Amino acid sequence: MSRRPVFLALASAGVALAVISVPSLAVAAPGDPGAPRYSAGADGAGDPYFPLAGNGGTDVQHYDLALDYAPPAPAPAPLEGHLEAVATIDLVATQDLDRFNLDLRGLTATAVTVNGKRSAFEQSANELVVTPRPKLKTGAEARVVVSYGGTTTRPTDIEDALYGWVTTRDGAMVVSEPDGSATWYPVNDHPTDKATYTFEITVPEGLVAVANGVLTDTQTTAGTTTWSWNAPDPMAAYLSTASVGDYEIDEYVAANGTPIFDAVDPTRLGAPTADLALTSEMLVFFEGLYGPYPFVSYGAIVDDDSVGYALETQTRSFFSRNAREGTVAHELAHQWMGDHVSPERWADIWLNEGWATYSTWMWNEHRGRATANESFDDFMSTPADDPEWDFVVADPQPLGLFAGPVYDRGAATLHALRVKIGDDAFFELAQAWVARFGGATASTTDFADLAEEVSGEQLDAFFTAWVYTPEKPVDW
Ligand SMILES: [Zn+2]
Repeated sequence: MSRRPVFLALASAGVALAVISVPSLAVAAPGDPGAPRYSAGADGAGDPYFPLAGNGGTDVQHYDLALDYAPPAPAPAPLEGHLEAVATIDLVATQDLDRFNLDLRGLTATAVTVNGKRSAFEQSANELVVTPRPKLKTGAEARVVVSYGGTTTRPTDIEDALYGWVTTRDGAMVVSEPDGSATWYPVNDHPTDKATYTFEITVPEGLVAVANGVLTDTQTTAGTTTWSWNAPDPMAAYLSTASVGDYEIDEYVAANGTPIFDAVDPTRLGAPTADLALTSEMLVFFEGLYGPYPFVSYGAIVDDDSVGYALETQTRSFFSRNAREGTVAHELAHQWMGDHVSPERWADIWLNEGWATYSTWMWNEHRGRATANESFDDFMSTPADDPEWDFVVADPQPLGLFAGPVYDRGAATLHALRVKIGDDAFFELAQAWVARFGGATASTTDFADLAEEVSGEQLDAFFTAWVYTPEKPVDW
Protein backbone atom coordinates (compact mmCIF):
# COMPACT_ATOMS: atom_id res chain seq x y z
CA MET A 1 0.00 0.00 0.00
CA SER A 2 1.37 3.40 -0.92
CA ARG A 3 1.53 6.27 1.41
CA ARG A 4 -0.07 9.40 0.09
CA PRO A 5 1.32 12.58 1.68
CA VAL A 6 -1.36 14.46 3.59
CA PHE A 7 -0.80 17.80 1.87
CA LEU A 8 -1.88 16.32 -1.43
CA ALA A 9 -5.41 15.98 -0.21
CA LEU A 10 -5.77 19.74 -0.31
CA ALA A 11 -6.26 21.71 -3.47
CA SER A 12 -4.11 24.83 -3.40
CA ALA A 13 -3.08 27.93 -5.27
CA GLY A 14 -6.21 29.76 -6.16
CA VAL A 15 -8.40 26.75 -6.79
CA ALA A 16 -11.60 26.79 -4.87
CA LEU A 17 -12.16 23.64 -2.90
CA ALA A 18 -15.27 21.81 -3.85
CA VAL A 19 -18.27 22.38 -1.73
CA ILE A 20 -19.89 19.00 -1.89
CA SER A 21 -23.50 19.07 -0.96
CA VAL A 22 -24.09 16.17 1.32
CA PRO A 23 -27.67 14.94 1.25
CA SER A 24 -29.30 15.86 4.52
CA LEU A 25 -30.28 12.86 6.56
CA ALA A 26 -33.86 13.10 7.61
CA VAL A 27 -34.52 11.50 10.95
CA ALA A 28 -36.53 8.34 10.57
CA ALA A 29 -39.76 8.19 12.48
CA PRO A 30 -39.49 5.92 15.55
CA GLY A 31 -40.66 2.43 14.78
CA ASP A 32 -40.28 3.00 11.03
CA PRO A 33 -36.58 2.40 10.39
CA GLY A 34 -36.99 1.26 6.78
CA ALA A 35 -38.91 4.26 5.51
CA PRO A 36 -37.36 6.13 2.60
CA ARG A 37 -35.43 9.26 3.52
CA TYR A 38 -35.85 11.36 0.42
CA SER A 39 -33.32 14.06 -0.31
CA ALA A 40 -31.77 15.88 -3.24
CA GLY A 41 -28.97 14.31 -5.24
CA ALA A 42 -25.70 16.25 -5.03
CA ASP A 43 -24.93 18.76 -7.77
CA GLY A 44 -21.45 17.27 -8.32
CA ALA A 45 -19.72 13.88 -8.35
CA GLY A 46 -17.26 15.01 -5.67
CA ASP A 47 -14.24 15.84 -7.83
CA PRO A 48 -12.36 18.72 -6.18
CA TYR A 49 -11.08 20.03 -9.53
CA PHE A 50 -14.54 20.33 -11.12
CA PRO A 51 -17.08 20.57 -8.30
CA LEU A 52 -20.17 20.72 -10.54
CA ALA A 53 -19.09 17.96 -12.94
CA GLY A 54 -21.25 14.88 -12.62
CA ASN A 55 -23.96 14.52 -10.00
CA GLY A 56 -24.86 12.47 -6.95
CA GLY A 57 -27.72 10.08 -6.29
CA THR A 58 -28.01 8.58 -9.77
CA ASP A 59 -26.10 6.06 -11.85
CA VAL A 60 -26.76 6.44 -15.57
CA GLN A 61 -26.92 3.15 -17.49
CA HIS A 62 -27.59 4.38 -21.01
CA TYR A 63 -27.92 7.58 -23.05
CA ASP A 64 -29.93 7.61 -26.27
CA LEU A 65 -29.29 10.92 -28.01
CA ALA A 66 -31.54 12.00 -30.89
CA LEU A 67 -29.84 15.11 -32.27
CA ASP A 68 -31.26 17.21 -35.09
CA TYR A 69 -28.54 19.61 -36.19
CA ALA A 70 -28.46 22.51 -38.62
CA PRO A 71 -24.91 23.81 -39.23
CA PRO A 72 -24.32 27.53 -39.82
CA ALA A 73 -25.36 29.19 -43.07
CA PRO A 74 -22.45 30.08 -45.37
CA ALA A 75 -20.21 33.01 -44.42
CA PRO A 76 -20.69 35.84 -43.65
CA ALA A 77 -23.49 34.36 -41.52
CA PRO A 78 -22.39 33.93 -37.88
CA LEU A 79 -20.61 30.69 -36.94
CA GLU A 80 -23.64 29.39 -35.05
CA GLY A 81 -25.61 26.22 -35.54
CA HIS A 82 -28.92 25.03 -34.21
CA LEU A 83 -29.55 21.88 -32.22
CA GLU A 84 -32.96 20.37 -31.42
CA ALA A 85 -32.61 17.20 -29.40
CA VAL A 86 -34.19 14.58 -27.20
CA ALA A 87 -32.04 12.74 -24.66
CA THR A 88 -33.48 9.52 -23.26
CA ILE A 89 -31.51 8.63 -20.15
CA ASP A 90 -31.92 5.34 -18.31
CA LEU A 91 -30.65 5.66 -14.76
CA VAL A 92 -30.83 3.99 -11.35
CA ALA A 93 -31.37 5.94 -8.13
CA THR A 94 -28.50 5.35 -5.68
CA GLN A 95 -30.31 7.11 -2.84
CA ASP A 96 -33.93 7.97 -2.04
CA LEU A 97 -34.40 10.99 -4.29
CA ASP A 98 -36.91 13.80 -4.25
CA ARG A 99 -34.90 15.56 -6.95
CA PHE A 100 -31.73 15.02 -8.91
CA ASN A 101 -29.43 16.92 -11.23
CA LEU A 102 -28.04 16.53 -14.72
CA ASP A 103 -25.31 18.77 -16.14
CA LEU A 104 -26.46 20.97 -19.04
CA ARG A 105 -24.84 24.21 -20.16
CA GLY A 106 -25.74 26.69 -22.88
CA LEU A 107 -28.79 24.84 -24.19
CA THR A 108 -32.36 25.13 -22.94
CA ALA A 109 -34.52 22.27 -21.67
CA THR A 110 -38.14 22.56 -22.77
CA ALA A 111 -39.73 19.42 -21.30
CA VAL A 112 -38.74 16.61 -18.94
CA THR A 113 -40.50 13.33 -18.21
CA VAL A 114 -39.56 10.67 -15.68
CA ASN A 115 -41.04 7.23 -16.36
CA GLY A 116 -43.51 8.87 -18.72
CA LYS A 117 -44.78 11.48 -16.27
CA ARG A 118 -44.15 15.18 -16.83
CA SER A 119 -41.69 16.48 -14.27
CA ALA A 120 -40.99 19.91 -12.89
CA PHE A 121 -37.49 21.12 -13.66
CA GLU A 122 -35.29 24.15 -13.18
CA GLN A 123 -32.18 25.17 -15.01
CA SER A 124 -29.18 27.18 -13.82
CA ALA A 125 -25.87 27.89 -15.54
CA ASN A 126 -24.56 24.32 -15.35
CA GLU A 127 -27.35 22.27 -13.80
CA LEU A 128 -30.72 20.88 -14.81
CA VAL A 129 -32.62 20.04 -11.63
CA VAL A 130 -35.39 17.48 -12.09
CA THR A 131 -38.15 16.85 -9.55
CA PRO A 132 -39.59 13.38 -10.22
CA ARG A 133 -43.07 12.51 -9.03
CA PRO A 134 -43.44 9.98 -7.66
CA LYS A 135 -40.10 10.28 -5.88
CA LEU A 136 -37.44 7.66 -6.60
CA LYS A 137 -36.46 5.05 -4.04
CA THR A 138 -32.94 3.68 -3.85
CA GLY A 139 -32.50 1.11 -6.61
CA ALA A 140 -35.44 2.40 -8.66
CA GLU A 141 -34.92 2.49 -12.41
CA ALA A 142 -36.05 5.63 -14.18
CA ARG A 143 -36.28 6.64 -17.81
CA VAL A 144 -35.67 10.38 -18.01
CA VAL A 145 -36.55 12.08 -21.29
CA VAL A 146 -35.26 15.61 -21.78
CA SER A 147 -36.28 17.72 -24.76
CA TYR A 148 -33.81 20.54 -25.26
CA GLY A 149 -32.02 22.66 -27.81
CA GLY A 150 -30.72 26.03 -28.83
CA THR A 151 -27.99 27.86 -30.63
CA THR A 152 -24.58 26.19 -30.79
CA THR A 153 -21.39 28.25 -30.66
CA ARG A 154 -17.74 27.48 -29.85
CA PRO A 155 -17.50 26.79 -26.09
CA THR A 156 -14.19 26.94 -24.23
CA ASP A 157 -12.83 25.23 -21.11
CA ILE A 158 -11.11 26.85 -18.10
CA GLU A 159 -7.91 27.14 -20.16
CA ASP A 160 -9.81 28.91 -22.96
CA ALA A 161 -9.33 25.91 -25.24
CA LEU A 162 -12.19 25.00 -27.55
CA TYR A 163 -14.20 22.01 -26.37
CA GLY A 164 -17.69 20.54 -26.23
CA TRP A 165 -19.94 21.05 -29.26
CA VAL A 166 -17.61 23.26 -31.33
CA THR A 167 -19.57 24.66 -34.25
CA THR A 168 -17.78 24.64 -37.62
CA ARG A 169 -18.85 26.05 -40.97
CA ASP A 170 -19.80 22.57 -42.23
CA GLY A 171 -20.82 20.92 -38.97
CA ALA A 172 -19.29 20.47 -35.53
CA MET A 173 -16.16 19.13 -33.85
CA VAL A 174 -17.30 17.38 -30.67
CA VAL A 175 -14.54 16.78 -28.11
CA SER A 176 -15.38 17.20 -24.44
CA GLU A 177 -12.45 16.60 -22.08
CA PRO A 178 -12.77 17.18 -19.20
CA ASP A 179 -16.34 18.46 -18.68
CA GLY A 180 -17.65 19.63 -22.05
CA SER A 181 -20.33 17.03 -22.73
CA ALA A 182 -22.77 19.24 -20.83
CA THR A 183 -22.55 21.68 -23.76
CA TRP A 184 -24.45 19.20 -25.95
CA TYR A 185 -26.55 16.87 -23.80
CA PRO A 186 -27.87 16.52 -20.24
CA VAL A 187 -25.35 14.26 -18.55
CA ASN A 188 -23.61 13.02 -15.42
CA ASP A 189 -20.42 14.56 -16.75
CA HIS A 190 -17.78 12.71 -14.73
CA PRO A 191 -15.77 9.57 -15.66
CA THR A 192 -16.99 7.69 -12.59
CA ASP A 193 -20.45 7.33 -14.17
CA LYS A 194 -19.78 5.39 -17.36
CA ALA A 195 -22.71 4.36 -19.55
CA THR A 196 -23.54 2.87 -22.93
CA TYR A 197 -24.77 5.11 -25.76
CA THR A 198 -26.89 5.15 -28.88
CA PHE A 199 -27.14 8.10 -31.26
CA GLU A 200 -29.50 9.17 -34.03
CA ILE A 201 -27.99 12.28 -35.58
CA THR A 202 -29.97 14.07 -38.27
CA VAL A 203 -28.03 16.44 -40.52
CA PRO A 204 -28.51 17.99 -43.97
CA GLU A 205 -28.15 15.41 -46.74
CA GLY A 206 -24.54 15.23 -47.92
CA LEU A 207 -23.00 15.73 -44.49
CA VAL A 208 -21.69 12.85 -42.36
CA ALA A 209 -22.40 12.49 -38.61
CA VAL A 210 -19.82 10.33 -36.81
CA ALA A 211 -20.28 9.07 -33.28
CA ASN A 212 -18.74 6.34 -31.13
CA GLY A 213 -19.10 2.62 -31.75
CA VAL A 214 -20.56 1.16 -34.92
CA LEU A 215 -22.76 2.67 -37.61
CA THR A 216 -26.06 0.76 -37.56
CA ASP A 217 -28.20 2.65 -40.07
CA THR A 218 -28.49 5.65 -42.35
CA GLN A 219 -31.85 7.00 -43.54
CA THR A 220 -32.24 9.85 -46.00
CA THR A 221 -35.60 11.61 -46.37
CA ALA A 222 -36.58 15.08 -47.51
CA GLY A 223 -33.08 16.49 -47.65
CA THR A 224 -31.81 15.16 -44.35
CA THR A 225 -29.88 12.04 -43.36
CA THR A 226 -30.12 10.34 -39.97
CA TRP A 227 -26.96 8.51 -38.91
CA SER A 228 -27.55 5.88 -36.22
CA TRP A 229 -24.68 4.68 -34.02
CA ASN A 230 -24.44 2.07 -31.30
CA ALA A 231 -21.70 2.32 -28.65
CA PRO A 232 -22.18 -0.71 -26.39
CA ASP A 233 -18.91 -0.38 -24.45
CA PRO A 234 -19.22 1.59 -21.17
CA MET A 235 -17.93 5.09 -21.84
CA ALA A 236 -16.99 8.16 -19.81
CA ALA A 237 -18.99 11.18 -20.98
CA TYR A 238 -15.92 13.19 -22.01
CA LEU A 239 -15.10 10.53 -24.61
CA SER A 240 -18.44 10.74 -26.42
CA THR A 241 -18.60 12.44 -29.82
CA ALA A 242 -21.10 13.25 -32.54
CA SER A 243 -18.96 15.18 -34.98
CA VAL A 244 -20.53 16.45 -38.17
CA GLY A 245 -18.80 17.46 -41.38
CA ASP A 246 -18.12 17.02 -45.05
CA TYR A 247 -16.21 13.79 -44.48
CA GLU A 248 -14.93 11.02 -46.76
CA ILE A 249 -15.59 7.63 -45.20
CA ASP A 250 -13.04 4.79 -45.26
CA GLU A 251 -14.03 1.43 -43.75
CA TYR A 252 -11.77 -1.60 -43.44
CA VAL A 253 -10.79 -4.35 -41.02
CA ALA A 254 -7.45 -3.99 -39.19
CA ALA A 255 -4.88 -6.79 -38.92
CA ASN A 256 -6.10 -7.66 -35.41
CA GLY A 257 -9.71 -7.98 -36.65
CA THR A 258 -11.04 -4.64 -35.37
CA PRO A 259 -13.44 -2.90 -37.80
CA ILE A 260 -12.20 0.60 -38.67
CA PHE A 261 -14.37 3.58 -39.63
CA ASP A 262 -12.39 6.68 -40.60
CA ALA A 263 -14.04 10.00 -41.49
CA VAL A 264 -11.66 12.52 -43.06
CA ASP A 265 -12.39 15.93 -44.53
CA PRO A 266 -11.60 15.67 -48.26
CA THR A 267 -9.16 18.57 -48.05
CA ARG A 268 -7.10 16.58 -45.52
CA LEU A 269 -6.77 13.39 -47.57
CA GLY A 270 -3.22 12.50 -48.64
CA ALA A 271 -0.14 13.67 -46.75
CA PRO A 272 -1.89 15.19 -43.68
CA THR A 273 -3.50 11.86 -42.84
CA ALA A 274 -1.22 9.29 -44.50
CA ASP A 275 -0.05 8.02 -41.09
CA LEU A 276 -3.56 6.74 -40.30
CA ALA A 277 -2.51 3.77 -42.45
CA LEU A 278 -0.26 2.71 -39.53
CA THR A 279 -3.34 2.15 -37.32
CA SER A 280 -3.57 -1.53 -38.24
CA GLU A 281 0.04 -2.27 -37.27
CA MET A 282 -0.32 -0.15 -34.13
CA LEU A 283 -3.36 -2.14 -32.99
CA VAL A 284 -1.30 -5.34 -33.22
CA PHE A 285 1.64 -3.71 -31.42
CA PHE A 286 -0.42 -2.30 -28.53
CA GLU A 287 -2.40 -5.54 -28.15
CA GLY A 288 0.97 -7.20 -27.59
CA LEU A 289 1.69 -4.75 -24.76
CA TYR A 290 -1.70 -4.24 -23.12
CA GLY A 291 -3.92 -7.15 -24.13
CA PRO A 292 -6.87 -7.35 -26.55
CA TYR A 293 -8.23 -4.10 -27.99
CA PRO A 294 -11.14 -3.40 -25.63
CA PHE A 295 -13.86 -2.01 -27.92
CA VAL A 296 -16.15 -2.98 -30.82
CA SER A 297 -14.52 -0.69 -33.37
CA TYR A 298 -11.96 2.00 -33.98
CA GLY A 299 -11.28 4.82 -36.41
CA ALA A 300 -10.45 8.49 -36.80
CA ILE A 301 -12.24 11.75 -37.42
CA VAL A 302 -10.08 14.38 -39.14
CA ASP A 303 -11.68 17.79 -39.53
CA ASP A 304 -10.46 20.70 -41.66
CA ASP A 305 -11.13 23.04 -38.73
CA SER A 306 -9.09 22.83 -35.50
CA VAL A 307 -9.66 22.77 -31.76
CA GLY A 308 -5.88 22.95 -31.31
CA TYR A 309 -5.39 19.35 -30.18
CA ALA A 310 -6.37 15.73 -30.82
CA LEU A 311 -8.57 13.71 -28.46
CA GLU A 312 -8.97 9.99 -27.83
CA THR A 313 -12.76 10.02 -28.25
CA GLN A 314 -13.72 6.41 -27.51
CA THR A 315 -13.44 4.09 -30.52
CA ARG A 316 -13.05 7.12 -32.82
CA SER A 317 -10.14 9.47 -32.09
CA PHE A 318 -10.51 13.07 -33.19
CA PHE A 319 -7.73 14.93 -35.01
CA SER A 320 -7.50 18.62 -35.87
CA ARG A 321 -6.45 18.93 -39.53
CA ASN A 322 -3.53 16.45 -39.35
CA ALA A 323 -3.04 12.93 -38.04
CA ARG A 324 0.72 12.52 -37.58
CA GLU A 325 2.26 9.21 -36.56
CA GLY A 326 3.10 10.14 -32.96
CA THR A 327 -0.40 11.49 -32.35
CA VAL A 328 -2.04 8.52 -34.05
CA ALA A 329 -0.13 6.19 -31.70
CA HIS A 330 -0.88 8.38 -28.66
CA GLU A 331 -4.66 8.48 -29.21
CA LEU A 332 -4.84 4.78 -30.04
CA ALA A 333 -2.93 3.82 -26.86
CA HIS A 334 -5.43 5.91 -24.90
CA GLN A 335 -8.18 3.46 -25.88
CA TRP A 336 -6.71 1.09 -23.27
CA MET A 337 -5.16 3.77 -21.04
CA GLY A 338 -7.71 6.48 -20.33
CA ASP A 339 -10.77 5.21 -22.17
CA HIS A 340 -11.13 1.60 -20.97
CA VAL A 341 -9.40 2.45 -17.66
CA SER A 342 -10.39 6.04 -16.87
CA PRO A 343 -9.27 8.46 -14.16
CA GLU A 344 -11.11 8.17 -10.86
CA ARG A 345 -10.50 11.88 -10.26
CA TRP A 346 -9.13 14.43 -12.71
CA ALA A 347 -6.03 14.63 -10.50
CA ASP A 348 -5.22 11.13 -11.84
CA ILE A 349 -4.85 12.42 -15.41
CA TRP A 350 -1.14 11.47 -15.54
CA LEU A 351 -2.24 7.84 -15.76
CA ASN A 352 -3.91 8.76 -19.07
CA GLU A 353 -1.22 11.00 -20.49
CA GLY A 354 1.81 9.25 -19.02
CA TRP A 355 0.73 5.92 -20.50
CA ALA A 356 -0.15 7.43 -23.88
CA THR A 357 3.17 9.28 -24.06
CA TYR A 358 5.11 6.21 -22.95
CA SER A 359 3.26 4.22 -25.60
CA THR A 360 4.68 6.52 -28.29
CA TRP A 361 8.17 6.06 -26.81
CA MET A 362 7.75 2.31 -27.18
CA TRP A 363 6.24 2.67 -30.66
CA ASN A 364 9.20 4.81 -31.74
CA GLU A 365 11.58 2.09 -30.52
CA HIS A 366 9.51 -0.52 -32.42
CA ARG A 367 9.95 1.60 -35.56
CA GLY A 368 13.72 1.77 -35.16
CA ARG A 369 13.90 5.34 -33.88
CA ALA A 370 14.95 6.39 -30.35
CA THR A 371 14.64 3.61 -27.78
CA ALA A 372 12.44 4.13 -24.73
CA ASN A 373 15.66 4.25 -22.73
CA GLU A 374 17.03 7.03 -24.94
CA SER A 375 13.78 9.00 -24.62
CA PHE A 376 14.03 8.61 -20.84
CA ASP A 377 17.68 9.74 -20.77
CA ASP A 378 16.79 12.72 -22.92
CA PHE A 379 14.02 13.68 -20.50
CA MET A 380 16.30 13.26 -17.48
CA SER A 381 18.97 15.53 -19.01
CA THR A 382 16.93 18.52 -17.81
CA PRO A 383 18.87 20.14 -14.92
CA ALA A 384 17.46 19.78 -11.41
CA ASP A 385 16.93 23.53 -11.06
CA ASP A 386 14.71 23.72 -14.15
CA PRO A 387 11.16 24.89 -13.25
CA GLU A 388 9.86 21.84 -15.15
CA TRP A 389 10.53 19.74 -12.04
CA ASP A 390 8.47 21.99 -9.74
CA PHE A 391 5.30 20.04 -10.42
CA VAL A 392 3.29 17.41 -8.55
CA VAL A 393 2.35 14.94 -11.26
CA ALA A 394 -0.41 13.28 -9.24
CA ASP A 395 -1.99 16.62 -8.28
CA PRO A 396 -1.54 18.92 -11.28
CA GLN A 397 -4.42 21.29 -10.40
CA PRO A 398 -7.25 22.08 -12.83
CA LEU A 399 -5.14 24.45 -14.94
CA GLY A 400 -2.29 21.91 -15.08
CA LEU A 401 -4.26 18.92 -16.38
CA PHE A 402 -2.55 19.09 -19.74
CA ALA A 403 0.78 20.61 -18.67
CA GLY A 404 3.98 19.12 -20.09
CA PRO A 405 5.08 17.18 -16.99
CA VAL A 406 1.75 15.28 -16.90
CA TYR A 407 2.87 13.78 -20.20
CA ASP A 408 6.68 13.65 -20.12
CA ARG A 409 7.28 13.05 -16.44
CA GLY A 410 4.31 10.71 -16.47
CA ALA A 411 6.00 8.68 -19.22
CA ALA A 412 9.37 8.85 -17.44
CA THR A 413 7.67 7.59 -14.26
CA LEU A 414 6.49 4.51 -16.12
CA HIS A 415 9.90 3.90 -17.67
CA ALA A 416 11.63 4.28 -14.30
CA LEU A 417 9.12 1.83 -12.84
CA ARG A 418 9.82 -0.61 -15.67
CA VAL A 419 13.57 -0.47 -14.99
CA LYS A 420 12.99 -0.87 -11.25
CA ILE A 421 10.65 -3.87 -11.31
CA GLY A 422 11.82 -5.45 -14.58
CA ASP A 423 10.13 -6.04 -17.92
CA ASP A 424 8.19 -9.13 -16.88
CA ALA A 425 6.56 -7.47 -13.87
CA PHE A 426 6.05 -4.19 -15.72
CA PHE A 427 4.11 -5.68 -18.62
CA GLU A 428 2.23 -7.99 -16.28
CA LEU A 429 1.27 -4.82 -14.40
CA ALA A 430 0.16 -3.08 -17.62
CA GLN A 431 -2.11 -5.98 -18.57
CA ALA A 432 -3.42 -6.45 -15.03
CA TRP A 433 -4.24 -2.73 -14.89
CA VAL A 434 -6.36 -3.02 -18.02
CA ALA A 435 -7.94 -6.33 -17.01
CA ARG A 436 -8.81 -5.29 -13.46
CA PHE A 437 -10.02 -1.73 -14.01
CA GLY A 438 -11.22 -1.91 -17.63
CA GLY A 439 -14.74 -0.54 -18.06
CA ALA A 440 -14.34 1.49 -14.89
CA THR A 441 -12.08 4.08 -13.25
CA ALA A 442 -8.95 3.86 -11.12
CA SER A 443 -6.71 6.18 -9.13
CA THR A 444 -3.01 6.79 -8.62
CA THR A 445 -3.29 4.87 -5.34
CA ASP A 446 -4.88 1.93 -7.19
CA PHE A 447 -1.96 1.97 -9.62
CA ALA A 448 0.70 2.08 -6.92
CA ASP A 449 -1.04 -0.71 -5.01
CA LEU A 450 -1.25 -2.90 -8.10
CA ALA A 451 2.40 -2.23 -8.94
CA GLU A 452 3.36 -3.43 -5.46
CA GLU A 453 1.06 -6.45 -5.73
CA VAL A 454 2.42 -7.55 -9.10
CA SER A 455 6.09 -6.84 -8.41
CA GLY A 456 6.15 -7.89 -4.75
CA GLU A 457 8.21 -4.77 -4.07
CA GLN A 458 7.67 -1.91 -1.64
CA LEU A 459 7.25 1.16 -3.85
CA ASP A 460 6.32 4.01 -1.49
CA ALA A 461 9.62 5.81 -2.03
CA PHE A 462 9.35 5.34 -5.78
CA PHE A 463 5.91 6.96 -6.12
CA THR A 464 6.74 9.68 -3.58
CA ALA A 465 9.76 10.73 -5.65
CA TRP A 466 8.12 10.47 -9.04
CA VAL A 467 4.53 11.64 -8.72
CA TYR A 468 4.10 13.30 -5.32
CA THR A 469 7.23 15.49 -4.97
CA PRO A 470 7.78 18.72 -6.96
CA GLU A 471 11.48 18.05 -7.48
CA LYS A 472 13.65 16.10 -9.89
CA PRO A 473 13.74 12.48 -8.67
CA VAL A 474 17.21 11.47 -7.50
CA ASP A 475 16.76 8.20 -5.60
CA TRP A 476 13.86 5.82 -6.09
ZN1 LIG B 1 -3.37 12.17 -24.44
